[in-house]
Amino acid sequence: MSDLIRKTAAQLADALAAGETTSVEITQAHLDRIGQVDGAVHAFLHVDAEGALAQAAESDARRAAGGPSSALDGVPIAVKDVLATEGLPTTCGSKILEGWVPPYDATVVRRLRDAGMPILGKTNMDEFAMGSSTEHSAYGPTHNPWDLDRIPGGSGGGSAAAVAAFEAPLALGTDTGGSIRQPGAVTGTVGVKPTYGSVSRYGLVALANSLDQVGPVTRTVMDAALLHEVIGGHDPRDSTSITQSVPDLTDAVRRGATGDLTGVRVGVVKELGGEGYQDGVQARFQEAVDLMVGAGAEVVEVSCPTFVHALATYYLILPAEASSNLAKFDAMRYGLRVLPEGVQSPSAEDVMRATRDAGFGDEVKRRIILGTYALSSGYYDAYYGQAQKVRTLISRDFDAAFEKADVLISPTAPTTAFKLGEKLDDPIAMYLNDLATIPANLSGVPGISVPGGLADEDGLPVGVQILAPTMADDRVYRVGAALETLLADQWGGPLLDRAPSLNGAS
Ligand code: GLN
Repeated sequence: MSDLIRKTAAQLADALAAGETTSVEITQAHLDRIGQVDGAVHAFLHVDAEGALAQAAESDARRAAGGPSSALDGVPIAVKDVLATEGLPTTCGSKILEGWVPPYDATVVRRLRDAGMPILGKTNMDEFAMGSSTEHSAYGPTHNPWDLDRIPGGSGGGSAAAVAAFEAPLALGTDTGGSIRQPGAVTGTVGVKPTYGSVSRYGLVALANSLDQVGPVTRTVMDAALLHEVIGGHDPRDSTSITQSVPDLTDAVRRGATGDLTGVRVGVVKELGGEGYQDGVQARFQEAVDLMVGAGAEVVEVSCPTFVHALATYYLILPAEASSNLAKFDAMRYGLRVLPEGVQSPSAEDVMRATRDAGFGDEVKRRIILGTYALSSGYYDAYYGQAQKVRTLISRDFDAAFEKADVLISPTAPTTAFKLGEKLDDPIAMYLNDLATIPANLSGVPGISVPGGLADEDGLPVGVQILAPTMADDRVYRVGAALETLLADQWGGPLLDRAPSLNGAS
């Protein structure tokens, strides 16, 4: 395995700055790795070798001329296939968008380009970001690099697996109910959901507008901060974008990396643990809490009673918004168009029906039906209206908890990676994966998942989630970096070095 692919983004940036390597070398090393392992992992839906190498060559020329554009100039990245990329296919993991090539870049993609970061390709995902396993992708599932028979989480399993398998040093994901954090947890990588509205969604194919957030997928907390600083900040093209600037995240990581948590109040959320959480997940979580206490944190238990209703609330609000967003796939504007068989002079409606029937998968159809029902007249108040009220109560529980604690912590996901196929026919079992991540989306607060070690019973990664108040993203980075330092001291090296099928594939 090339040394270059083992390096973190921060290390690659240093090596580039020191003139020890070039962006073309780094990019080629990752393309080679993709060529070696992606047949087995299937993290990518589309690899743009030619484009990435051309961008890398431009980066090298820029550096030679004396002016890199950013700290990450020349460091390549993978992008979840739900973000519009000019000239590169964007399918959202759906047949209905097969062949669609956007005429413009999402703002976050534009910012990557402006920062000089070569784009390796587009990563696999559950169709329209609905799912927790990547098995709902119309193009086949992604496999977890820790065990190829297991799921890499979802919906952003492709981005997490690409980073875990050393196919990309960095990736972008999107998190509507946990799709950055839960894949991070089950692949032993770092995933961040920024504060709602603090990273532009212009050019993100919306799943649920009041919940969606773009964020970093990386192997270290510092790499996430570096990437977050590239993509974050106000965008006049996104009407929900907030004007406050992003706090200094890399500085927060430097402070956290000392491993000192003196004076930090850490709240353990009672409702996000216990019954339904795997023993090995609980054990690693408890160890993380104990380490934080040892590092000077003041740990308190906090109760957020409405969190037990978060999943039900989410599964009314999300389908309602999604069903409305997906109405635009009408066979006229984008991608697929299917003519109904045996119909003479089909009407627009006939074509629409045939296209949506063929183009959408089962999970997408299920949520369109749920959402349309929840929004229908007569039911609107009983379902959607009620869910909005509970959502307010969940935010109030967060406010109360943040009076007692600077950050809240919990396991990121209730279990480690399950076997491919295990939950595919049981939507409720699939939905339960996001039990601990959904409250943050409902209230807009930022969160990170950092690797917490391996569960004893199956040797698979466990994630620890850290949440902070709105716009206090620097706190999740500080505490995340501290935990990363404390655990690295215990493990004596990166967790990903212990991934068996990764080593086998190299
Ligand atoms: N797994 C959740 C869902 O299926 C979250 C999806 C997401 O964050 N995009 O809705």
